[in-house]
Amino acid sequence: MKTIGLIGGMSWESSLEYYRMINEKTKQALGGYASSKSLMYTVDFSEIEPLQRTGDWAALDRKMAEAALQLQSGGAELILLCTNTMHLSAQAIEKAIDVPFLHIAEATGQAIQQRTMKKVGLIGTKFTMEKDFYKSTLKEKFSVDTIIPDAGDRDELHRIIYDELVNGKFLESSKKKCLEIIERLVAKGAEGIVLGCTEIPLIISQEDVAIPVFNTMALHAQEAVDWAIQGEEAVA
Ligand code: GLU
Repeated sequence: MKTIGLIGGMSWESSLEYYRMINEKTKQALGGYASSKSLMYTVDFSEIEPLQRTGDWAALDRKMAEAALQLQSGGAELILLCTNTMHLSAQAIEKAIDVPFLHIAEATGQAIQQRTMKKVGLIGTKFTMEKDFYKSTLKEKFSVDTIIPDAGDRDELHRIIYDELVNGKFLESSKKKCLEIIERLVAKGAEGIVLGCTEIPLIISQEDVAIPVFNTMALHAQEAVDWAIQGEEAVA
């Protein structure tokens, strides 16, 4: 079994869930006392959020690359970045390390392709919904079109993520708003919904939504476990 390196802390609420999932999935695959060999490098989110807000992506690239390198030098044999948004720094990370980096949008794109869907709704932070990095990965690598909520709904999702979810506040009223936003994406033609923020699955699950949802965190964690146990061919 290979050692998984996790860049966590964005937020730790969802990193906890990543940690639980990779261990649970490893145990499911191997049985007995099996658990995942892993390392987690947890950043201080209070250093990350202001850089995101002010758009200092060069500084964020350096921080993400540094975290990945620390994990590699500690023995990680593959790297996961436990947030959708910070995949804006994916290229900087890949450039810094020699071990494989498993991209969350690629794990998600593979799952969408397996369901033969062509158009999905994407919810997440404004960075993830509005910038090109996520949508272009789905389009260019998996031929999947992405619909995003309108501007008012994007503001509301972003507020819910940064004011509530990353601070461990899980409100019924916000869950209801997210579900209304999802309904509007379904009305616009979404065949499935990408939960493109690792905190959103903490309040929304498949049972809440009539069409398929793609839990990016669960798909990413599963890909890492398959890779760690069976090697690269398992996820190719
Ligand atoms: N975890 C979130 C995501 O998946 C948002 C927090 C962050 O900016 O990293 O996008």
